[in-house]
Order: sequence, then structure tokens, then C-alpha cells
Amino acid sequence: MNDLVITGATVLRHAVGGGVEFVPDTTIVIADGLFSVVDDADSLDARSAVAAATLAGGARAGALIDASGMVAMPGFINCHTHSPMVMFRGAAEDVPESRWFNEFIWPMEVNLTDEDVEVATWLAAAEMIRSGVTTFADHYFSMPSIAKVVDGSGLRAVLGSTYFSSDGGGGLAQSLEFALQYNGASGGRITTALAPHATYTVNDQDLAATSVAGLEHDLLVHIHASEDRHQMKHSRERFGHTPIETLRRAGMLQNRLLIAHGIGIVPEDLPLLAAGSGQIGFGSAPRGYLKNGFDTTPVRLIDSFGIPVGLATDGAASNNTLDVWEAMTFMNLTQKARENDQTYMTSRQVLGHATTKSAAAVQLAGTIGSIAPGFKADLILVDLSDPRSQPVHDYANTIVHSARSSDVDTTIVDGRVLMRHKKILTIDVPAVIAELAPRLARLTDRSHGTSIQDYDA
Ligand SMILES: [Zn+2]
Repeated sequence: MNDLVITGATVLRHAVGGGVEFVPDTTIVIADGLFSVVDDADSLDARSAVAAATLAGGARAGALIDASGMVAMPGFINCHTHSPMVMFRGAAEDVPESRWFNEFIWPMEVNLTDEDVEVATWLAAAEMIRSGVTTFADHYFSMPSIAKVVDGSGLRAVLGSTYFSSDGGGGLAQSLEFALQYNGASGGRITTALAPHATYTVNDQDLAATSVAGLEHDLLVHIHASEDRHQMKHSRERFGHTPIETLRRAGMLQNRLLIAHGIGIVPEDLPLLAAGSGQIGFGSAPRGYLKNGFDTTPVRLIDSFGIPVGLATDGAASNNTLDVWEAMTFMNLTQKARENDQTYMTSRQVLGHATTKSAAAVQLAGTIGSIAPGFKADLILVDLSDPRSQPVHDYANTIVHSARSSDVDTTIVDGRVLMRHKKILTIDVPAVIAELAPRLARLTDRSHGTSIQDYDA
């Protein structure tokens, strides 16, 4: 029995070798949450699936979607975020990161309850579904509250419960407990990670213990490392080596590892990363880098070692949006500028980072990131009829440079329709906004004079 049949779409597909192509008039059949058929509308499989869906009640019964004139592409994967931080969107701007952490974010985070985190995550989930994000890799506190939202919203997520060494021995223990308890939850939509905060907030001993626990339980480790050049230089001055060498010494390059940012990655780091037997990926969030006056992730260098770099937004307290579409456009622009090379990071290349490379970065290669038989049925339908997207000479160029996340018409995860014709079906957005509003004064109060942590990277 098929869950859903989608007809008439132009589909973003991956050719053998990974290149992106757009195939018109393709029928997509979803069964048991997976793509079962992705084929020309005239094929026998496509025609019989359409006939069966029509018999089952067609569009009225939710068995058939006519996507004529739309582009179907894999849902976006946010490879690194702190989703509940939407609650602090715009609350701390135009300050250096040490003041951003020490005077704003960490004092405000003292105020959070599990319930605050849940309410904010509902808002984040709505923003992500609206903008075509189907999977997010989250790194935050009160993770069971976030898991509850993943469950209810229908999104897919890779969840890691954050800890610092200042939490004492209990930090890793609670992160591990969460990871073991929730891995595979919500029908497999939740996978988990261990989430040490960073190489400068978690000491060598705790990093080593994390590596051991990750290997023992085959868990991904998600961490901030070499976040910017200043941090890399400071690490060299203080310890005589880069943050990546810190990870290597802790054994962590043997783990499955997701590194946030990596702007400070230098050529000497790459052989270390490539020699690790672990599967390593990066999440790059270029919008926030521009805002902070940082350089950006050296994608070309990392790519040349076969290490995947996926797209990310980081938290909305720094990036202001969870819009991965925007991250895609910024990656294209900032990489061209960084390399001073107009021929580098073409629209098709950045679509590769947005799809299969993002899936690989969050350790879900072969599971999500492609509209192909056997993959999880996570996709979006995009309407390119807006004047700014017309005419279409090349779908890749139109999507990267002209279309916007607001053109996403339909969002589907695991074969379930979460948004149709821009209406979110699993979240009451006005109710969430009303629930968050009365909390804001308390959440942003810094008069208590305490902080969850001290930033000294
Ligand atoms: Zn982050």
C-alpha cells in the first residue's frame, strides 16, 4: 500500500557520481515512509501507482498530490543549530563574541526551564517546516523537551544534549543517558549524539571520556571546534597546537564526528582529519560568520580531502534565522569570495552540499538527502512562479540565486505531509507565539548577575 503519490514534478535527482540534475514530469511514489518509485510519468510503475492512488480517493483522500509546475527536492538538513535559541532572536546584536556569550547569552540561559525550551522549540520547528528544513542537528539543554517537539511536529532530528566540564562528571553522563534512551525514538526520526560543547569548554580528560563512550556505544559526537581563526590562534598560543590536534589527542578523530564551523581549519589539520578512522563531517553556517566579521569555513580545502561539509544556521540568537535555504545562497557567495574564483562553488555544487553532503555530515548518508528509491521520504515542493524566479533557464541557478524559502509550498517528512500550500498542519503557530510572549521578559533578565559559563576561547 502506498502512502502517497506525487505527480508532475520536476525532481532534483543525483546522478551516478553525485552530480545534481533536474528531471521533468517525474512521478514519486512513497510507501512506508520511503521513496519506492521515482520514475518517468509514462513508466509502468508510475502509471499503476497513480491508478491505485486515484482508486484510493486521489487528492481528496490525501493519496495523490499534483505537483505540476513545482520542483521537488530533498528537504534541507540543518547540520548544526541550537533550535530553542529562537527565543533570543535579535536580543544580543553588534557585540564581539566574548561579550555576546558573557554579557548576554550565558546569563540569559540561566533563566531557562524545560518548559521554556519546549515552547521555543515549537516556534523553531514551525520556522523550519515553513522554510523546507526536514532534519536538524540540535545541540542544547533540556533535550527531552526538544525530543517531545520533534515527536509532535513530525520533523527528523539528530539530538545531542550539551555539556561543559564545569558541569562535573555528570555532564557526560546525562548526555550519554539521553543519547542511549532516545536513539531511534519517534519511529526512527530521532537519532542521537553526544554533545560536548567545545574544545575550550570541555577539558582533555572529558573529551577523552566522550570519545571512549562514543566508540563503545557507536554514537555520533557533535562539537564546536576551530570555530574561528582567533580561536585557532589562541589554541596554538596556549597549548602549542590547533583545536583539531586537541581532538586527535583525545582520540576523537576515531569517532563519528560532526564539527560545527571549522573556520579556523588550517592545512596542517587536514591530514589529521583524513587519517582518523572515524567518519567526520562539518556544519557551516555562513550567514552568522558574515555578521560577526569572520572568515568562512575553508570548504574547498576540506572537500579536497573527501570530508563532507553540510549547511547549517547555528542558533537564531546569532544567525537570526533557521533558514537553511539562505545558508545555501550564502555558502555559494562567500566561497566564491573566499577563493576569489567565479568558477568555484557553482549552483549545482552548493546543491550537493545542501543535499547528499549535509546528509553525510550528520551521518545519515544513504538514508536522507536524495529523492531515490530506498531513501526516507523527506522532500519539499517548491513553487517557482514568483516573478523573481521567472523565467527559469537553469533550475539550479534559479533555486540558489532567485528563489527563497518562502516559495516552499509543501514539506513532507517520512512520507507525512507537515505543510501543504504553506499551511503547517502539525503546529498551531499563533498559539505558540502567544505562549512564548509572556516569558520573554523573564528569559532575557540579566539582573541576577550569574552565568551558566565563562567564555574564554
Ligand atoms: Zn553552535
